Amino acid sequence: MSETDAAKMDATRTDLRRDLPGVTTLLAHGDLQQTRSAHGERVLTRAIRETLAEWRRRLASPAAPETLDEVALIRGIQDSVDRWVRPAARAVFNLTGTVIHTNLGRAPLAESAIDAVVQAARHPIALEYDLEAGRRGDRDRLVEDLLVEMTGAEAATVVNNNAAAVLLGLTALGAGREAIISRGEMIEIGGAFRMPDVMTAAGCRLVEVGATNRTHARDFRQALNAASGIIVKAHTSNYAVTGFTSGVAESELAEIAHAHGIPFMIDLGSGALTDFRALALPHESQPAEAIAAGADLVTFSGDKLLGGPQAGVLVGRREAIAQLKQHPLKRALRCDKLTLAALEATLRLYRDSDAPERDVPALRLLTRPAAEIAAQAERLRPAVAVALDGIAAVSVGACRSQLGSGSLPVDRLESHALVLRAANSGALVRLERALRALDRPVIGRLHEGALWLDLRCLASEADEAVFARQLESLPRCWTSA
Ligand SMILES: *Cc1c(COP(=O)(O)O)cnc(C)c1O
Repeated sequence: MSETDAAKMDATRTDLRRDLPGVTTLLAHGDLQQTRSAHGERVLTRAIRETLAEWRRRLASPAAPETLDEVALIRGIQDSVDRWVRPAARAVFNLTGTVIHTNLGRAPLAESAIDAVVQAARHPIALEYDLEAGRRGDRDRLVEDLLVEMTGAEAATVVNNNAAAVLLGLTALGAGREAIISRGEMIEIGGAFRMPDVMTAAGCRLVEVGATNRTHARDFRQALNAASGIIVKAHTSNYAVTGFTSGVAESELAEIAHAHGIPFMIDLGSGALTDFRALALPHESQPAEAIAAGADLVTFSGDKLLGGPQAGVLVGRREAIAQLKQHPLKRALRCDKLTLAALEATLRLYRDSDAPERDVPALRLLTRPAAEIAAQAERLRPAVAVALDGIAAVSVGACRSQLGSGSLPVDRLESHALVLRAANSGALVRLERALRALDRPVIGRLHEGALWLDLRCLASEADEAVFARQLESLPRCWTSA
């Protein structure tokens, strides 16, 4: 290309850039008025500026188009608005096969809990106010009676999450003294929750007893001395020690602790409030069992198998709970009104519902019959195959869902998945990314060279409709993935 040609081309490009409409013109453009009334002038102006800047860059490059495509420009502005207004905390489809998925927000709330959150968000509520006496009250009262009734404990309190509950329990009952725990229970729960670290943070001196696979009552007895502060048992929730193993029964640990005049605390982790065996699920420890065994303090999560909001529940003896409530950490770790409202509503379902396994979504998902999931997979397969035509082959496969969040690490639930197989691993990764780029991102699980979409958690008709409908835009996401 001669210098004059290049200069000419450059001139054309400059002209094209000069042809770009101005911000004011675009703000008044007929095709943008719907966007303008939906999202406002501020958002639209930002999108116009962003898109114009991008187009100026593009028109300045050697690969610039010859003509200005106004339709594409308008679409670019609309896409920019869509990206901008899309909340980071938006709904996704959890088709990972892990029902209580920590990275995806754990348990979905029951409808009554959602209503309670909305009420508490919108109006003043009697959070720390005794309506009968007309004076200041205790925020735990919203849930304490329910927790006491559900677990047989004497008293209860609630904090931000179970990690906070363990920290508070250890600090209030054992700080400055020795905390004794079996070597087989030095758990690490995802993130930075490690039992030895939490004990250190609580100001306890860690005393490990027994061996990884076997701990005996005499190990605990021998470790006791004048500096002993608390005996701790932690539910080994995300792994299982099997084979030549032995542990000490909770009731025996309670006896050993009490004979020495110190408290016994159990970190249950999940803490199911209903008998899972009665729901044809694998047995999961219940707080009531731990209390009956003589524990002074039992901690568990609100958003694992309980199926409520993120919270750390502490139930136990009156004196132990009173010590926690008086501790300054309690104030720092307390729950907000939205959490307490959701927790109260969830606990009420366990007390009052004829079928909590129907009304608590986490339980509903866990007890969903495999045959129903299989039928759903067969029903969805043809439409998904059409949407993914030329991208991936779609079949139905049997799989197993996990309860998740460290619950029942060994037992799995029979389920079914849509299995997506792409031409090669690059295409599979691209498909996975395209599914995540949908309006309501679809999160599956890569397994044995395929993307598995376990349908257990696609339980409502409304969700199924949204899932099927939005697949129509998958080819577009696929192109840009
Ligand atoms: C999950 C779990 C925790 C942490 O609970 P969060 O609610 O995530 O803070 C602590 N201990 C055990 C045994 C757990 O399973």
